[in-house]
Formats: sequence, structure tokens, C-alpha cells
Amino acid sequence: MDGRPPAAATWETARVSSVSTEHPETATPRADLVADLRRAMTGGVDDSSRRRAEYSTDASNYRVVPDVVVFPRDTDDALAALATAREHGAPITARGGGTSVAGNAVGPGVVIDFSRHLNRILEIDPSSRTARVEPGVIMSALQARARPHGLRFGPDPSTQARATLAGMIGNNACGPHAVAYGRTADNTVALDVVDGTGRRFTARAGAGALDVVPGLDALARRHLALIRTEFARFARQVSGYSLEHLAPEHGTDLAKFLVGTEGTLVTVLEATVALVPIASSPVLLALGYPDMPSAADAVPALLAHHPLAIEGLDARLLDVVRRHKGDAAVPELPPGAGWLLVEVGGDSDEHALERARAIAADAGTPPCETCPPAPRRRRCGRSGRTAPDWPGAPPMGSRRGRVGRTRPSRPSGSAPTCASSRR
Ligand SMILES: Cc1cc2nc3c(=O)[nH]c(=O)nc-3n(C[C@H](O)[C@H](O)[C@H](O)COP(=O)(O)OP(=O)(O)OC[C@H]3O[C@@H](n4cnc5c(N)ncnc54)[C@H](O)[C@@H]3O)c2cc1C
Repeated sequence: MDGRPPAAATWETARVSSVSTEHPETATPRADLVADLRRAMTGGVDDSSRRRAEYSTDASNYRVVPDVVVFPRDTDDALAALATAREHGAPITARGGGTSVAGNAVGPGVVIDFSRHLNRILEIDPSSRTARVEPGVIMSALQARARPHGLRFGPDPSTQARATLAGMIGNNACGPHAVAYGRTADNTVALDVVDGTGRRFTARAGAGALDVVPGLDALARRHLALIRTEFARFARQVSGYSLEHLAPEHGTDLAKFLVGTEGTLVTVLEATVALVPIASSPVLLALGYPDMPSAADAVPALLAHHPLAIEGLDARLLDVVRRHKGDAAVPELPPGAGWLLVEVGGDSDEHALERARAIAADAGTPPCETCPPAPRRRRCGRSGRTAPDWPGAPPMGSRRGRVGRTRPSRPSGSAPTCASSRR
């Protein structure tokens, strides 16, 4: 050894081969599996060490090397990949953007990447406020297509520029606007799915909805008391199987029940999701607190005002940004070491500002900064970056000309109500 790092290819090979890919579920040798996948599929089948190394991680700390990664070209191709994996007894992991933080998108056997080809928005129906999408549609692409109709998908994880709809369905993703619009489950109407036996069905709500899975209706009825007392005890409960959706009082909703199952029960081939109207005049408040626990204590009072979004921001996070990008990269915020960014809407600019004033009055903190409705937001703050563009909001200046050229014209009496006590 001369002390130099090995060449990249050698290093990758070494890393991959250092981790065992043997799994009891994989009955036949990997070479057979790969050869059969190549025969069955028209899309890419890649068992190179580079590709397997790439897909051995997601946004989590976990690392599991798959046998092979496949890129189905269409639904039939995905079904062919699933059938081949089934024949070989190989585990499968469906994958979208791979932004999961708990190892959800890594696994042994076959990783199926839906984001490369199965990423078409099939339909936006403004009258029913729904969208029909393939599993690999990136969330921000759906927002862009829905926006001209004045609509958006409600939940918006901060990974929206990478996260796919099926990944959001897999994780029951939320995001800051979930306080107003609910979780992904609350916005899922129907799912075209295939289960581990190869049975394909449409999951939806209503009488007879559970009949597509033999025995499920009887199971739900048998355990109804437990489901009613132990499940859905709080609004953001997203871990575990959400059996409450199977109860009649929740609409006997098989589609919503499958949301959050992380690809363990079914693979999603197509989804119909609900869209919500874009709030017309969102106002953003930045509220400063001595620390995050104090900020958290203030949240219940703020929720009573039905805001569009609440996001917490810790001073330590801003310190990291400052260290890496300098002071100018951090927007001006009211004094504090923990902040809540609260978005509130209204029927008009004035109504939204009125609601913002009411929130400020109940915020339990004097330090507060109010940013006007969206088209004028860039006017906020020292560097024009105080107010982030929440996903789904109209692009800056879209309604009133270009920002920076348009003089902000505050509605009468709309001046910020809380002391603009900046550092
Ligand atoms: C910096 C950061 C910020 C984040 N912020 C948020 C946030 O604000 N709110 C939030 O809820 N989450 C957040 N997340 C988590 C994650 O981004 C979201 O859950 C996102 O929706 C996952 O989408 P994805 O396409 O990356 O899914 P993946 O990670 O690829 O997959 C997610 C799950 O869905 C399954 N899956 C994927 N495709 C299918 C399919 N076709 N059929 C069946 N199952 C499938 C996967 O097997 C996996 O179990 C964040 C993550 C990071 C790294």
C-alpha cells in the first residue's frame, strides 16, 4: 500500500462486496434473478456495483445493498418486475426520491425506482379538485400543474422538489401546511395497487371497499373496539398501520388505510389525490421565543386560529447556515433563540392581515415580524429573504407585476401590528 486512496471503482466494489447481500428470502442466486428481470422488463435492470452502492442509501443513516435496481418504463413493466421478484422470492423495495429519513427506501433484493419513467401527471380535474398521477411524479411538478387552476396538493414536506407522490403516500408525508390541509392520507382518494401475491385492485372508500382484500372486512370488524380506542389518538399519528380508516365512521377507506404503509402491503401504480384551493392572501408571521420549548408551548393557542402553516426554527439551525454561508444568508428575524413561522390566509389582504394581528395578540411573545401577502413578501426583511415561498403559493409577483418593481401598496390599516423589534 502506498497510502493513496484506491481508485473510485475499486473502492465502490470493495464497499459493496464488504456487505453481505445474502438474505434467507432470496431462494435463487442473484444472477438468475437479474437475468430473468432483463428478460421480463423493457426498462433498465442494473446490477453494477456503482448502481447498487448508490441505491444502498437514502436520506437516512442506514445502508442496505440491494441485489439489483430496476427502472420500469410503464405500469406493465413494473408488474413484470414484481412478478419476477415474486417468482424468485426476492424482497422488493419501491423507491421514489429516496428522501426518507428512517431507512424506508432501502432494502435487499430488488429496488424499483418509480421516479425515472413513471412520472406523468395523467389528469387534473378542477371540477372535482382531484389529480390522477403516476407514482413517480415529483410533488413540486404537481403543484406547478395545479397552480393555473388555483389549486395545490395540501401536504408539502420540505423535500417537495425531490419527493414523489408515491413516496409521500408511502410515508404519509405531512409538512408545514398539514395543519390546514391534513396528512397525505387525508388527501388521498383512490389508489391503483398490486399486493405481494400479484393481485391488482383499486383501493377506495365506501361500502364494500374492503371486499377486494379477502378477510379484511371481517378482521376490521373483529377488532373494531381496539381500533376505536387505540388508533388515531392524535391528528399527526403517522407511524404504524392506520387501521382507523377501516372503521365505518371513518368511511371504510381502504385507500387512506394503505397510506403510510411504506410499501409493505402494496405497491402503488397510480394515485388519485385531492387538491385544495390556493389561499389567496397568505400573510407570514415570524414569532421569536427564548427557546424552542417556549415556542412549542405557544403552538396550541396559535392552532386555535386555524393557520395555513406553522414551522418551528431553532437558533442552532440558523447558526449552521451562518457558519457555512455567512450572516447575509440568514433572514432578519425578531429577537429570540427559537422561532415559529406562521402563515395565515383570508378572503382578502386586509382580512388576512386582520387574522395575523389576532394571532400576534395570542402568540405570548412581543417579538414579532409580519410579512404582507405573497406578492409583496420580498419586501420583508433586511435581505428580502425573510419570507420563504411556501410550496403551492403563487410565484412571487405573479398577481401584481414583478416584485422589486412594484411599489407595495398596503391596504389601509394593514401595517404590522406587533412590534417590529429587530435585533
Ligand atoms: C431534509 C428533509 C426534510 C424532510 N421534511 C419532511 C417534512 O417536512 N414532512 C414529511 O412528512 N417528511 C419529510 N421528510 C421525509 C421525506 O422527504 C418525505 O416523507 C417524502 O414524502 C418521501 O418521498 P420520496 O419520494 O423521497 O419517498 P422514498 O423515500 O423514496 O420512499 C418513501 C416510502 O414510500 C415507499 N414507496 C415509494 N414508492 C412507492 C410505490 N410506488 N408504492 C409503494 N410504496 C412506495 C418506499 O418504499 C418508502 O417506504 C424530509 C426528509 C428530509 C431528508
